Amino acid sequence: MNVHDSERLAGLLESAGYVPAAQGADADVVVFNTCAVRENADNRLYGNLGHLYPTKKNNPGMQIAVGGCLAQKDRSVILDRAPWVDVVFGTHNLHRLPVLLERARHNAAAQVEIAEALEVFPSSLPARRASHHSAWVSISVGCDNTCTFCIVPSLRGGERDRRPGDVLAEVEALVAEGALEITLLGQNVNSYGRSLGDPGAFARLLRACGNIEGLERVRFTSPHPRDFTDDVIEAMAQTPNVCPQLHMPLQSGSDAVLRRMRRSYRRERFLGIVERVREAIPHAAITTDIIVGFPGETEEDFADTLDVVRAARFAGAFTFKYSPRPGTPAAEMDGAVDPAVVSERYERLASLQDEMSWAENRAQVGRRVEILVSEGEGRKDSETGRLSGRARDGRLVHLLVTGPHAQDGVVRPGDVIEAVVTRGAPHHLTADGPLHSHRRTTAGDAWEAARSRGSEAGSEAGPEVLSPAGSVSPGSGQPAVSLGMPTLRTGPAAR
Ligand code: SAH
Ligand code: SF4
Repeated sequence: MNVHDSERLAGLLESAGYVPAAQGADADVVVFNTCAVRENADNRLYGNLGHLYPTKKNNPGMQIAVGGCLAQKDRSVILDRAPWVDVVFGTHNLHRLPVLLERARHNAAAQVEIAEALEVFPSSLPARRASHHSAWVSISVGCDNTCTFCIVPSLRGGERDRRPGDVLAEVEALVAEGALEITLLGQNVNSYGRSLGDPGAFARLLRACGNIEGLERVRFTSPHPRDFTDDVIEAMAQTPNVCPQLHMPLQSGSDAVLRRMRRSYRRERFLGIVERVREAIPHAAITTDIIVGFPGETEEDFADTLDVVRAARFAGAFTFKYSPRPGTPAAEMDGAVDPAVVSERYERLASLQDEMSWAENRAQVGRRVEILVSEGEGRKDSETGRLSGRARDGRLVHLLVTGPHAQDGVVRPGDVIEAVVTRGAPHHLTADGPLHSHRRTTAGDAWEAARSRGSEAGSEAGPEVLSPAGSVSPGSGQPAVSLGMPTLRTGPAAR
C-alpha cells in the first residue's frame, strides 16, 4: 500500500513540474514515505534523516519531506528530532505535498500538516506507476478491525470503500494503457462492500474483473480470514483471470493468542479456508504473515503455530517478531516474551517455513509455467544474464534464455513467456530450459517505447533536462504519469 501511495506522490510531484533525479545525482527534493507498523521503521527513518543532514547543509535549497504512517504518528516530533526537515504530511493528505513544499520554500519555514480524516481518496490523484504491466488498484483504505498489536487503524482511520464502478473504471483505464495484471489493495480487502451495505461486493468485483478484455491476471491483498466467505473462493475458481494465489495472514496458530490478538477466527477456520481453496483451485500458492512472540505466547502456543505452518503448506510467509506499538492494546499487556526466546522461536519458524517453501517449490519441477517478465525482480540478473518474472501463482521465476530470444530487447519486461521449471529453491524457481513460447504484449511495447524515448531524451540533453509535467522522464523504460481517476467520493453521502 505504501508502494502505491509512493506512486501517487511521484505522480503529484511530476504533475507539479518536478522530474526524477538521475541515479546518483543529488536531488533537490527527497520524500520519505514512511511505515510505522513495526518499530524498526522508526529507527530507520531517523537514521536516514541523520545521513542526509550533511547533504542538506551543503545544499541549502534542498528540501526534505516526510509523509505516511510515521509522520501521522510522530507529527512535529519529527521536527524536534530532525529540525532540517522541511515538510511533514500525514496519511490523509498526501495530495498536499506540492503545496507544502512550495509554502516551506516561500516562507522559509518548515510546514507540518496532518489531517484527522481522509481528505481526498488517493486513487483520484495522478500516479507515476512503476510498471507498465502490473498495477496496484486501491479498493479501500483504512481498517475497521481492532487487532490488538496493530497501529494501522489509528493512523489510517476506518475503512472507506470505493464504489465498484470507480474501481472498474480505473482497472479498464490501466488495461487500455497496457497493464496485464492488477492487484486489488485494501488493509482488509475482502471486507470490501460492508460500508456500502453490500457484503457480496468483493466476490462480485472479482467476477467483474473477469469481464475486462485484455486483463490477464487479477490478484488481491490482504484478505482477513474472518471475512473470507465461500462466495469469494467460488469467484476465484470460476474467474479465469483471477490468479491461483492467496496471501492470507495467519498471525498465530494458537487459538488463545488469536483471541488476545482480537483476531476473531480460530485455527480450524483458517485451515478450513486453506482446504477449500485447495479443493477449488488445486495449484493455488498460499502465503501468509505470522507474528512470533506476542505477549503471553507460550512454547505450546508457538508449537500450535508450527503445526498450522506444516498443515497449511504455505508457499511462503512473511514472519515478524512482535513489535510493541505505543497506543495499541497489546503494548499494555503483561507477559512480554524474553527477546532471546523470541529470536530462537523466530529462527525455528523461519527454518520450518523455508523447508516447507522449498518442498513446495521442488514439487513445481517439470511444470510448464507462464511467466510475466518483469524488471527489477532479479537483483543478480545483469550478472547472471537471466530474466525474471512471476508465474500465475505469484512464484518468482528466474530463467536463462539462450538462442535468438537472448538478444537484448527480444523478450521485454511486460512480455509473456512459457518455460518448464528445472529447479525449486526456497524463495524462487529456476526455468533454464528452452522457451516454449513468447508473446509480445502491449505492455512490452509500452516499455520499449518508453525506453527509446528515455534514451533519446538522455542523449540529447542529459539527465537534468526538465521534461514537461506528465511526460516520461529520461533514462528508463518507466511509464508516464497517468491522470488520477476523476471520481472521488469521500464524504458521508458517498458512503
Ligand atoms: N491489513 C493486513 C496487515 C497489515 S500489516 C492484514 O490484516 O492482513 C502487515 C503485517 O505486519 C501483519 O499481517 C502482521 O503480521 C505484521 N504486523 C503488524 N503489526 C505488527 C506488530 N506490532 N509487530 C509485528 N508484526 C506486526
Ligand atoms: Fe491491522 Fe488487523 Fe486491520 Fe490488518 S486487519 S490492518 S492487522 S487492524
